Amino acid sequence: MAEELLVYVLMIVVAGVLSLILCLFSYVKLTNAPGASQYMIVTLFSAVFSFSYALELTSNTLKEIKFWLGIEYLVMPFLPAFILLMCFEYAGHKIRKPFLYVLFGIPMITVFTHHTNELHHLYYLTVELRKDTPFPIVDFEYGPFFYVHSLYLFLCFSISIMILLLQLNKSLFRFKLQILMMVAGLLVPIIASHFYLNNLSPYGIDLGPVSMSAAFILHGVALFSFQMFNVVPIARENVFESMLEGIVVLNQQGAIVDYNKAILQVMPMLNSFSIGKQIEDILGEEKELAEIIRHGEESDYERVENSLHIYYQVRFSPVLGRNSSNVGTIITFVNITEKVEMQKRLYQLASYDGLTQIYNRTHFMEQSVNKLAAILEQEGHASLIMFDIDHFKHINDTYGHEAGDIVLTNVASLARNSLDPQDIIGRYGGEEFVILLLGKDMKEAFEIANTIRERISKNVANLDGKTIYVTSSFGISQIELTQPKQKEAMKIAIREADHALYAAKNMGRNNVQIFKKRVQTV
Ligand code: GH3
Ligand code: MG
Ligand code: MG
Repeated sequence: MAEELLVYVLMIVVAGVLSLILCLFSYVKLTNAPGASQYMIVTLFSAVFSFSYALELTSNTLKEIKFWLGIEYLVMPFLPAFILLMCFEYAGHKIRKPFLYVLFGIPMITVFTHHTNELHHLYYLTVELRKDTPFPIVDFEYGPFFYVHSLYLFLCFSISIMILLLQLNKSLFRFKLQILMMVAGLLVPIIASHFYLNNLSPYGIDLGPVSMSAAFILHGVALFSFQMFNVVPIARENVFESMLEGIVVLNQQGAIVDYNKAILQVMPMLNSFSIGKQIEDILGEEKELAEIIRHGEESDYERVENSLHIYYQVRFSPVLGRNSSNVGTIITFVNITEKVEMQKRLYQLASYDGLTQIYNRTHFMEQSVNKLAAILEQEGHASLIMFDIDHFKHINDTYGHEAGDIVLTNVASLARNSLDPQDIIGRYGGEEFVILLLGKDMKEAFEIANTIRERISKNVANLDGKTIYVTSSFGISQIELTQPKQKEAMKIAIREADHALYAAKNMGRNNVQIFKKRVQTV
């Protein structure tokens, strides 16, 4: 064999081996990458093509050459179809069935026409050995179907490149590089075929297999590097970007690996330059957020933007690498504002009296028990005031129910405003109120009750220019803090305050009475 030919044959054999290695590599390693299965077929077909072509080149007779050419033409026409499918899947597009029929129909026709060429000469007009070469090389005069196949090949590659380039803009920076690598992988065989088709290659030897194997290295790297993210790249991006949840992905060292658009509502400072930087550095002044992320446990995060409160639930999930080792963290911010507001509204409805906007009886009791439990440890005092508007029925009867409501509301807020923040007030019944005073003995409670009584009696409501005067009666009791059951202690104190209130009513109303075993006037 001529030395020169040996070099080409060797190159083609190496290309075939390379394709075969890439095929095996994709079978073992590229399990998750999009387009991986097509890549496996493409590399396998390319290996078959290369080896057959090497054997074609080493053949001595036209018959042998034609035999190997036939083998080449069993796989080669399908390569553009699988490459196109690979690019489609890579770009996250689905292919419709009719398109698949066309995509595989044309190569099937090519295979058929090629194998039956002797009958119609539609693929090659003539197939002869070249006379100007030192070794047997076949020379073709192409028929119309060859050009159909060439056009098909050209279209498949062009569409593949277009599909990839269209995704370029939509992709995050680091994915752009991989897409460009895929595109470069497609351009290499196109350039090579230009040389071949324009008779610029030495002795008309088709270096297509060599260029294709080289191109497959680029494709393989692109596929593999996507797989390192363990996600379908562009399909993933569509999902990732359209998610309502804000997501930021950190590696194990706390550097930002990825983020989606929705996270910008939580971390507006993120941009493509943030990739690779420590999240703590990026967050800067956002101390609360940084603390939540540092802590790494599910929690709620409240953000105030233009005086709007937005609530997020922050979740952390590990990114598992090979051998289930932890390689990073996905932090998800779920906007739970609606839920939180609904909960607040429900809490408001369940805990507050609709008219007076102070605690209702149930919530007052719950809160009191909680506060008493806390004060028990501090060994402080606590006392209870119970008061009732005098002759309220008369107010309703004279001014109407609506006026009665206004009086009730005003009495409640007047009493509320006379208390310390830690004290709590509730509406106990119709026009009956209850107050828990923390850290205050009965004497102090008496002072407070008297102040409220005086304020109420002075001025309560204005209705159509008329002032409605009302008075109220008060009963006071001491809460037994040594009682281990706070609920029981509250019940006793309420009963006792009610007794004292009853006494106040009996004493002519508009006064305060303290419960002291035997009720006395102060
Ligand atoms: P006393 O001095 O003995 O407490 O006399 P009173 O009239 O205040 O007591 P009574 O218990 O006989 O009447 C309470 C009235 O309070 C009866 C009820 O119609 C009225 N009332 C209860 N809840 C409301 C309310 O939400 N709005 C209004 N306007 N009136 C209410
Ligand atoms: Mg009353
Ligand atoms: Mg009453």
